[in-house]
Amino acid sequence: MPRPESADSHDPFQAFLHRVTRPIQFACRDAYAHLPTVRNLDRFVSEQVINTLGERVYPRAMEMDLLSLRNLFVDFHTRLTRIEQQDRLTKALALLSRLQGDARAVSQPAGPSKENQVHPPPVRSSPARPLWELSIQYAKGVGPKRTLLLERLGAHTVEQALWTLPWRYEDRSVITPVAELVPGATRSVCGVITRTEATRARVRRLSILDVAVQDATGTVHAVFFNQPYLEDVLKEGLRVMMSGRVAAGRGGWTEVRLEATQFEVLGGGEDELLHVGRIVSIYHETKGWTSRQMRILMQGLLAEYGADMEEVLPLSVRARHRLPPIGEAIQQVHFPLPKTDLTALDQGVTSAHRRLVFEELLLLQAAIVLRQREMKEEPKAFRFNPHVSQLKQLAKVLPFALTSAQERVFHEIQADMVSSRPMNRLVQGDVGSGKTVVALHALVMACGSGCQTALMVPTEILAEQHYLNLAPLLEAVGLKAVLLTSGGKAKDRNETLKQLESGAAQVAIGTHALIQKKVRFARLGLVIVDEQHKFGVLQRKTLLEKGYRPDVLVMTATPIPRTLAMTVYGDLDVSVIDMLPPGRKPVRTLLYTDGQRHKTWQLVGDELKAGRQVYIVYPLVEESEKVDLKAAIQGAEHLQREIFPQARVGLLHGRLPTAEKERTMAAFKAGTIQVLVATTVIEVGVDVPNATVMVIEHAERFGLAQLHQLRGRVGRGAQQSLCILMATYLAREARARVSRDGRPEENVSGAQQRLAALVNSNDGFVIAEEDLRIRGPGEFLGLRQWGVPEFRAANLVRDAQLLEQARQEAVALLEQDPGLTLPQHQAFKAAMFRRWRGKLALGDVS
Ligand code: ADP
Ligand code: MG
Repeated sequence: MPRPESADSHDPFQAFLHRVTRPIQFACRDAYAHLPTVRNLDRFVSEQVINTLGERVYPRAMEMDLLSLRNLFVDFHTRLTRIEQQDRLTKALALLSRLQGDARAVSQPAGPSKENQVHPPPVRSSPARPLWELSIQYAKGVGPKRTLLLERLGAHTVEQALWTLPWRYEDRSVITPVAELVPGATRSVCGVITRTEATRARVRRLSILDVAVQDATGTVHAVFFNQPYLEDVLKEGLRVMMSGRVAAGRGGWTEVRLEATQFEVLGGGEDELLHVGRIVSIYHETKGWTSRQMRILMQGLLAEYGADMEEVLPLSVRARHRLPPIGEAIQQVHFPLPKTDLTALDQGVTSAHRRLVFEELLLLQAAIVLRQREMKEEPKAFRFNPHVSQLKQLAKVLPFALTSAQERVFHEIQADMVSSRPMNRLVQGDVGSGKTVVALHALVMACGSGCQTALMVPTEILAEQHYLNLAPLLEAVGLKAVLLTSGGKAKDRNETLKQLESGAAQVAIGTHALIQKKVRFARLGLVIVDEQHKFGVLQRKTLLEKGYRPDVLVMTATPIPRTLAMTVYGDLDVSVIDMLPPGRKPVRTLLYTDGQRHKTWQLVGDELKAGRQVYIVYPLVEESEKVDLKAAIQGAEHLQREIFPQARVGLLHGRLPTAEKERTMAAFKAGTIQVLVATTVIEVGVDVPNATVMVIEHAERFGLAQLHQLRGRVGRGAQQSLCILMATYLAREARARVSRDGRPEENVSGAQQRLAALVNSNDGFVIAEEDLRIRGPGEFLGLRQWGVPEFRAANLVRDAQLLEQARQEAVALLEQDPGLTLPQHQAFKAAMFRRWRGKLALGDVS
């Protein structure tokens, strides 16, 4: 129950604040006009502070503030210039206002108990310098060395440091009697140190400090490794709290030890428990920087700057969603109140967490709504005709009928293209679901309506494939397509550019370079981006800058949760091709180790004998590019000479000249090459239905989405296809890389999980979900790639619902105040621009 405001007048501390504030305010009034007439402020403030301090015990932070207040006036009348005096007065008012807030918080009967009140919630005051500009190196106790460590954790400024949230929590508030400790759990004990013993093992220069702690029920040994300085801290006779993992000691179950121990020396009443005896936060650590240090830093930062945290959420929004003020939320995520639900903390769904998440999401959504508004204001250059004759012709020349899913998606696209609003649609469909032919329909409709179109793909190889597949079909309906690549003769290239500029060619197929630099279109009406996930977000701005206002269609095989689509594109419409063309048999997937290689070659040999073709893929990552390339080249030679001398083995990688790549791919397509050794250049788009086996070397090095894409290269015809994952070294690495607590490190277990997921499912959505689970949303979604930087508090999967609410709130906010000009929205507007202007290419709000 909150304390009634009127009670303030009976509170001696409030009375003290009132007494001290009055003369100071008087001195400040009318531009310090009365300052010369004010006397004896030094003595007055000092007396008031001392008396107040004598009245009761305050939380440490308040006592510090009181003493600072007194210090401000010690030499006030004797040594200071007028300007310095004015500065002191301003500081004093800020301190007083902070004390006011502190006092309120402390006197709330339902509030936190004193021990857990690590630092009182802050109140507003205006900082000299905003926290987002204040480098962390100037914070108390942070030197140059620590600055580097903190920057590694992403905390360059005080604000960023305060927003560096714990990733989990431990409840150390419950004290367990020593006699009840059982190995396996993490527990806290409280007792007196009866003995300490330091030993140094010669091997590996290990130092061990063994501390015996006794309570009324027994003695437990706490063990510290390589922290010799603790000998001076943990002295016999001290009362301490310790917590850590309970392990069986030398005497087996009869004697237990505490490992990975955290401790707190219990002194007099001034103790502020940070590390035990409460729910403590665990942060991401880096070498030389522990959670313990982080907590100490946080306590310091909160005490020093907590009051200066800026409230950016409008009060009405906070009230509607019941969100606590920023200072309180930050305080509580770092130092949770006693009895906070541990699960809620760990999941990041306490009201403090929700508030931080909401702030982040609202800032983003407002920025997106703004950008969207800018976009909608663009008039659309063309209206398309859904009844062009070329569409009917296309149906005649296509060797198959569209699946019902393809039909539906094309209708959705058609509706967009006919409307007067620019199209901004995403087509999602698993590998092999037939996105290309849907794109082809859109191309034909646009060109039939008198426009030009561009089909952009991530690699040159894919551009060529699309060109080879589509150009004849387009020609059959009377449309001319050109391929624009960086290779080839300059003369040909210039000719191609001319045809686009004059409008003689209607369809341009190529890489990202299509919409850049020298390429000019006569009437660009539609841009299709294939394999969008390989590109990152298409900057509409780039198109607009060139004077184009085309409809945009993006296609991807990577399923994106609706929330993310909304996050990135705002009003992006999503269509899903949720069906494969008829007659497909699911690809059978096998996982072999190096020792089983003969089996692989046997299976491959059988398929070759049956007249089918094979891909063999090698990983190629940038850091080890040279080595990888060599492996692929040697692999091809070895296969040709030793394993399949009767077949023709081709080699394809990104470093080859364009003409050679084209030749090789054409030969594979025509069947004159039967085994294609390739790097991941064939990951997307390549379509050779007679290829029925895909062997992936070092499968453990690929990401799950990538493996699924690669596997999608086979199973494109009516034949049963096979994907063989060769996982080299997996078992050995798994043994070698076991982290301290005995769990295998992520990358190894991650690789195993990835491969298992692939063997177990052919469904892109199932695989994507699994990928999401293994990697977590940030990495899975490739947020950076999509143009969304990592969030500090939000988690797009967990917070889908909050995102929806934030979106509604953003829309309402911008309806009420379209230019964000109201005074109560200034902090919000500034924060939004700070965070998103660059990243979302936001224009200025008028
Ligand atoms: P993706 O969605 O992975 O880009 P593609 O567009 O490359 O898939 O199509 C995969 C294969 O399926 C191609 O060989 C294509 O010709 C074929 N295909 C597409 N649609 C159909 C259909 N409706 N009926 C039969 N085959 C189809
Ligand atoms: Mg495709």
